[in-house]
Amino acid sequence: MGIDPEKSPLVKKVFELYATGNYPLHSLANWCVEHNLKGNKNNKISISSLQKILQNIFYIGLMKFKGEVFEATHEPLISKKLFDTVQEVMAKRGKKKDIRKHHFAFLGLLSCGYCGCAITAEIQKGHHYYHCTKKKGPCQEKHYLREEQLTEQIKNFLQKVSLSSQDTGKVLAALDSEQEQAKQQAKVKVENLKKQLSQVETKLAKLLDVFLADALSTEEYAAKKQEFITQKVSLKEEITDFEQKGLSWLEPAREFVLSLNQASKLVETENKEEMTTFLKNIGSNHILRNRQLIFSPKIPFNLVAERSEASHQNLTFPYWCPREESNL
Ligand SMILES: [Zn+2]
Repeated sequence: MGIDPEKSPLVKKVFELYATGNYPLHSLANWCVEHNLKGNKNNKISISSLQKILQNIFYIGLMKFKGEVFEATHEPLISKKLFDTVQEVMAKRGKKKDIRKHHFAFLGLLSCGYCGCAITAEIQKGHHYYHCTKKKGPCQEKHYLREEQLTEQIKNFLQKVSLSSQDTGKVLAALDSEQEQAKQQAKVKVENLKKQLSQVETKLAKLLDVFLADALSTEEYAAKKQEFITQKVSLKEEITDFEQKGLSWLEPAREFVLSLNQASKLVETENKEEMTTFLKNIGSNHILRNRQLIFSPKIPFNLVAERSEASHQNLTFPYWCPREESNL
C-alpha cells in the first residue's frame, strides 16, 4: 500500500494549508473540490474524512496495527514537524469551538459601553472573564468582568422584577375573575346594542313602507334612510368592538405576570443561558461599562424595577398590579 503519486502533492498541500491555521476544515474541503482531490472511491472528500486524513500517521511513514505503531515500508509524504503542527492547530480549533458552545453563558448579550464592539469572554485561572473585543481599535474600557460578578448583577435586577409563584397564582386568578366580570359587562352591553340595532332595522323597513304608500317625497325618504343606515353602521361597529377588543389588555397582562414569575425562578435556578434569553426578551441595548451591566428594560419591567427599588422590598401582590396603581 503506497500513496497515489498523482494525489500526493495535493495531500501534502492540504497538510500545509491546514497548518497555517487559516483554513478551517470546511474551507479545506472546498479547496479539495476546487483542486479535484477526491477520496478513495473517487467521491467528494467529506469534512470528517478530511479530519481523518490530517490525523493519519500513514503520511509520516508510520502504520498502526492492533494499537501498536510500526514503521511502514513506504516513503513518508510529510515531515513529522508538519504533522505535529497540524495536530496542534486541530486541538486548538476543537477547543475553541467547544468553549463557545458550552461555557460562556452571556456571550452574544453584551456590547462595550465605550466603543460599541461585542463583548467576548475568556478563561483565566479557571474563571470566566468578559471584556471588549476592541475590534474597532483602541478602547478606553480596560476592565475585565468576572462571570460571577456579572451573574450577581443580573440576579440583582431579576430580584427587583420577581414575583413569587404563590403571588403569581393570585394575580392570574384575579385576572381570570376580572376577565369574567368584563365578559359579563360586555355581554349586557352587547345585548343592549343589538336591541337598538333591531329597532333601527325595523324603522328602516317601516320607512320603506311609508315611502311606497306615497306618504314621503323621494328626498325625505333618502334623508331619513341615510340617517338610519348611519346609525346601523355605528351600532354594528360598537358591537364588534365590545365582542372583540374589550379584553385586549388581558393576554399581555398575563404574559407580563408570567415573565415576572420567570424572573423569580431564574434567581433560584441560576440558569445563565435562560437569563441571557430573558434579558434579551425584556430589554435592549445591553452594554458593559466599568464592570457594570446597563440596559433598557421595556417600560412595564422598568416601572416594576423602579418601584421595588423605591420600596426596598420584593414585589408583593397586589401592590405591583398596574390596575391598582390609581388607588395608591
Ligand atoms: Zn470597547
